[in-house]
Amino acid sequence: MILRLILEAVIAVLVISMVRAAVGILARALFQSAMRRPQGPAPRRPPVPSGGELKKDPVCGTYISAATAIQKRVGEQTYYFCSPGCREKFRA
Ligand SMILES: [Zn+2]
Repeated sequence: MILRLILEAVIAVLVISMVRAAVGILARALFQSAMRRPQGPAPRRPPVPSGGELKKDPVCGTYISAATAIQKRVGEQTYYFCSPGCREKFRA
């Protein structure tokens, strides 16, 4: 009776440690594949000085390069947007 309880406890501990090890390996593999992935077209990138002049999107606050940004002139002021969606929101 007692022996069986001990055996079950040992099996439970083994199963739990195996599951934890498997989860750890899986998490590491996912993390490494995420790190390997080349930078996609992420719209919300932190401000990185990439040579060009950085402009702040007044709608969402993202910094974009003036060369690639969508520009809109209002009188003397030029506004820069990260996407056409932000330009539409600004116009509204
Ligand atoms: Zn934006």
